[in-house]
Amino acid sequence: MVLGRALILKTSGLPFVERFVRRSFLFRPLVKRFVAGDTLDEAMHESETLIGQNLTVTLDYLGENTKTEDEAIQARNTYIDILERIAAHPKKQDLNISIKLTQCGLDLGDDYAEKNFRQVLEIGQRSDTFVRVDMEGSDYTDRTIRMIEKVFPEHPNTGTVLQSYLYRSIDDTKRMIQLGARVRVVKGAYLEPESVAHPDKSKVDEKYIEMSQMLLQDGNYPAIATHDAKIIDALKAYAKAEGIDRSRFEFQMLYGIRRDLQDGLRDEGYPVRVYVPFGDMWYPYFTRRLAERPANAFFILKSLFKG
Ligand SMILES: Cc1cc2nc3c(=O)[nH]c(=O)nc-3n(C[C@H](O)[C@H](O)[C@H](O)COP(=O)(O)OP(=O)(O)OC[C@H]3O[C@@H](n4cnc5c(N)ncnc54)[C@H](O)[C@@H]3O)c2cc1C
Repeated sequence: MVLGRALILKTSGLPFVERFVRRSFLFRPLVKRFVAGDTLDEAMHESETLIGQNLTVTLDYLGENTKTEDEAIQARNTYIDILERIAAHPKKQDLNISIKLTQCGLDLGDDYAEKNFRQVLEIGQRSDTFVRVDMEGSDYTDRTIRMIEKVFPEHPNTGTVLQSYLYRSIDDTKRMIQLGARVRVVKGAYLEPESVAHPDKSKVDEKYIEMSQMLLQDGNYPAIATHDAKIIDALKAYAKAEGIDRSRFEFQMLYGIRRDLQDGLRDEGYPVRVYVPFGDMWYPYFTRRLAERPANAFFILKSLFKG
C-alpha cells in the first residue's frame, strides 16, 4: 500500500492525469464524498448539519501554491468572508478555519505571505475565531514554524499542524509547547524522501503517539487528527490513565471519512471537529485522499478498464 500511495502521489502531478481526473464523471461521486461543495454556502450548509449533530467544524477553502498576487489576494479575501460568516453565526464557537500559507502567497515571499496572513488573523481575532495553519510539504515546514513563532505573540488565535512522519517533528512539538500554540497532530499526507521522513509506517504511528502524549501533557488544547482507531484507543487510554480531562483536547477527522468513528467519539463525550473542505480547487486535496486509500482509486480504474 505504501507503493500505491507513492504511485498515486507521483502520477497525480502529471498534467494529463489531472485533466483526466478533473473531467471524468467516474471520480465525481468520490470527489463529492470528500469535498463539501464548490461554494461557501454549500460548505456552511454541510457545517450546519454537522453542528446540529453536536460535532464542530473547521472550514478549509481549497487551494495551494498561488502563483500571483491576484490569486493570493482572492484567497485572503475568501478567508475573510468565511471569518465574517462565522462571526455572525449563532454557534460561532463551533466553527473555525484552516488555511495554507502557500495559498496566502508564500511562494511569492515570506513577507508577502505574512502580510496577508496577519490581515486574516486580525479579522479572526475580532470574533475570537481560531485560524489554523495547515502543514504542507517539507519544503515549507521550517518557514511555517518560523511564521507561527513570529506572529503568535500578537495573534494567539493561531496554531499549526505537525506531521509525525517527519524526523524533525519531535523537536517542533517541543517548540510549539514552549510557544504555547495549539498543535494538530497528523501522520502527514505528502510524498517525502527518506532523508526527511520515516519510510516505515509503524515508526510514523509510534511517533504519532509520542507527539500526542507530549501535547496531551504540556500542550495547548491539542487536536488528535487521525482515523486510526488503534491510535485513538491508545490515546484515550493514555489520557484516562493520566487524568487528562476530555475537555483538554479534541479529536479531528476529515469530512467524508469514518463517520462511524466521529459519531462514536462524540457519543462517548469527546469533542470532535470535522475538517470541511470546499471550493473548485479540489484536485490536490482529492489526490492526497486517494493516496491514503489507494483501493478507492484502483476500484475506479478497474471499472474503467472493464467497461
Ligand atoms: C483534520 C485533519 C487535518 C489534516 N491536516 C493535515 C495537514 O495540515 N497536513 C498534512 O500533511 N496532513 C493533514 N492531514 C492528513 C493526515 O496527514 C493523513 O494523511 C490522514 O489523516 C490519513 O492518516 P490517518 O491518521 O487517518 O491514518 P491511516 O493509517 O492512513 O488510516 C487509518 C484508517 O483511516 C481510514 N482512512 C484514512 N484515510 C482515508 C481515506 N482517504 N479514505 C478512506 N478511509 C481513510 C482507513 O480506514 C484507514 O485504515 C489531516 C488529517 C485530518 C484528519
